[in-house]
Amino acid sequence: MLNLVIFGGPGSGKGTQSAKIAQKYSLFHISTGDVLRDHIARRTDIGKVADSYISKGMLIPDKLMIKILEDLLVSRKDETKHGVIFDGFPRTLPQAEELDRLLGTLDTNIAAVIGLEVPDDELTARMLKRGAETGRADDNEQTIKSRLAVYHKQTQPLKAYYAETGRYKAIDGMGSIDGIFDKICAAIDAAK
Ligand code: ATP
Ligand code: MG
Repeated sequence: MLNLVIFGGPGSGKGTQSAKIAQKYSLFHISTGDVLRDHIARRTDIGKVADSYISKGMLIPDKLMIKILEDLLVSRKDETKHGVIFDGFPRTLPQAEELDRLLGTLDTNIAAVIGLEVPDDELTARMLKRGAETGRADDNEQTIKSRLAVYHKQTQPLKAYYAETGRYKAIDGMGSIDGIFDKICAAIDAAK
């Protein structure tokens, strides 16, 4: 079993690279952003709560986010047996600690955290482009500003959490999709 986290700012390419990683290493791709957007589209109770945070560029509260993730891991047990690529989770220290605890109870762990490092001005440009192309609601100038601020304040500190245990693998997230993917694969193969 191989469990990985893909880490990086909003618009850093986590979703794009996760799909490629999932296919190459036969991993189950869990994107918490996609899970939440699906709830919003289906107008579930969770979707209503999620929308109120996402539209402001804020994080969903840890307690709810952790519950959603745990329920998902339990309900998709069969699909996750070869391992999981976690995309968009953890985003806070309590989420990271909970993930380590949870995987520990399943006798497994996070082998590596792939950190896509991209400067803020490039992140902003990518999200504005995606917003224009796809109409994704939180890819607008104002929400992007708060997402970047939230990332630096609440999520970036996780880098040190994973670096302490030697699991953080920094990847230059600038360049072509395939070029970045090759660097990611080299880091995964070295960590396996
Ligand atoms: P990328 O473009 O690199 O895939 P992203 O930051 O643009 O990443 P998502 O990961 O799809 O977008 O997340 C969208 C929003 O969903 C976040 O801004 C946040 O409000 C909410 N969200 C997603 N995952 C979490 C989480 N683990 N904890 C709290 N909120 C979350
Ligand atoms: Mg995403």
